[in-house]
Amino acid sequence: MSEALIQNTENPKTFLKVDAKFPFCKGCGHHHITQAINDALVKLQLEPSHVNITSDIGCVGLVDALFDSVHSFHTTHGRSTAFATGVEIADSILADSKLKNIVVIGDGGAMIGLLHLVNAAQLNVDVTVVLYNNFLFGMTGGQNSSFSPVDFITTTTPRGNIIPPIDIITLLEGANAGYLARKTATDSDLADTIAEAIAYPGFALVEILELCTEYALRGNSIRGNKLAEVAPGKVMELGVIANKKDRVDFGDAYKTKFPGRETTKGTKSSGIVPKYENSLKKKVGFVIAGTAGERVQFSAYTLVETAVLAGANATQKNDNPVTQGTGFSLSEVVISRDEIFYTGIDTPDVVVVVSEDGVMEMKSQGVFRRANESTLIIADESLEIPECAGKIMRLPLRKKYSPSGAAFAGILTAVKATGILPLEAFREIVPTIVGTGRQKKSESYLSIINEVEHNN
Ligand code: SF4
Ligand SMILES: [Mg+2]
Repeated sequence: MSEALIQNTENPKTFLKVDAKFPFCKGCGHHHITQAINDALVKLQLEPSHVNITSDIGCVGLVDALFDSVHSFHTTHGRSTAFATGVEIADSILADSKLKNIVVIGDGGAMIGLLHLVNAAQLNVDVTVVLYNNFLFGMTGGQNSSFSPVDFITTTTPRGNIIPPIDIITLLEGANAGYLARKTATDSDLADTIAEAIAYPGFALVEILELCTEYALRGNSIRGNKLAEVAPGKVMELGVIANKKDRVDFGDAYKTKFPGRETTKGTKSSGIVPKYENSLKKKVGFVIAGTAGERVQFSAYTLVETAVLAGANATQKNDNPVTQGTGFSLSEVVISRDEIFYTGIDTPDVVVVVSEDGVMEMKSQGVFRRANESTLIIADESLEIPECAGKIMRLPLRKKYSPSGAAFAGILTAVKATGILPLEAFREIVPTIVGTGRQKKSESYLSIINEVEHNN
């Protein structure tokens, strides 16, 4: 634990590193903005462990290291907002939603990762973006960015930029952003605005106009106190431009829609009320494969829903070629009494393979190679299964149950052999998945259940 963390834990007077020295060039606006972020945090008196600063690439990428009492991480160019969005969603849904996420990004990063900003605004995640806009790429040599004003001289526009710049505030207004402000780096109330943005319960962006003294002064008559007038014939609007009270934070909206996490004792998030018992002793991973159009993924889905009806947790991952209706179709299903945080299957417990396309894909994914002596392999009798450690059970699945019933019958056979779930639960779940008005289809699945129960 750093000295700063100990010092800052109660009534922090600064969130900056002890003896922090700003590494920026003389006169650079980064000094003011970074200081204002610290002042905003002090004003809000946030618990340091509840603050996460995510930085981008560029001179702004040096900011996170200055704040060593809070969580921080340095990310790839333009992607900082996407990383912070992920952290925020995890915090608001899986944890206690106490984290305040701050992104520090330059105009270059904002240009590269523009859609991440749009997406974060649309979601309304609790992320505050502090956009250091000095109208060019500073660290990489003063090149033009999408934020460079018309006529702006940069190293790549030596005769002046001819492309109108992005107006990020207008753009994000279009994405329904909750809080938007534009300030200049030397505004005396900059820290207050950043504090208001951080306190806003949802997405906020503060665009701060500033000077790169290293490159912007070459050829431009730009001055720090006239930054809003940097574009000829236009004065940019400054101040708080949007502060919506009616937007619901993404985490709150999600938890309202999917209250399952709080109520797992009775109702699963799928809405299924567990009614049967399972006999799971450990997490069980199924890999099921066949040919596209032969109901492989649907059959895997019946397994998932049945597991939930029997009080277990379940995940399903599907795979097929780019062309959805040709070639192989594969599903991985994990079922467990405990919550499933890792949905991968390293060693399959059950393999169900019902066509040559399925065998080929399983071979290429190394499924047989990863099987061990306790892996149960249910295969159609027509198939050649590569040598592997698993126990192979060959059955006339395609002949007996038709190609579109083979995967379902294979899954039922495995469930019956292992005894992990009651077949009765499949009987209840199938008509609900097949849907009303498709009685014939339901009946065909129910007859497969009867057949497997009494024969395979
Ligand atoms: S290169 Fe420009 S943006 Fe980077 S620290 Fe120097 S003045 Fe600031
Ligand atoms: Mg820049």
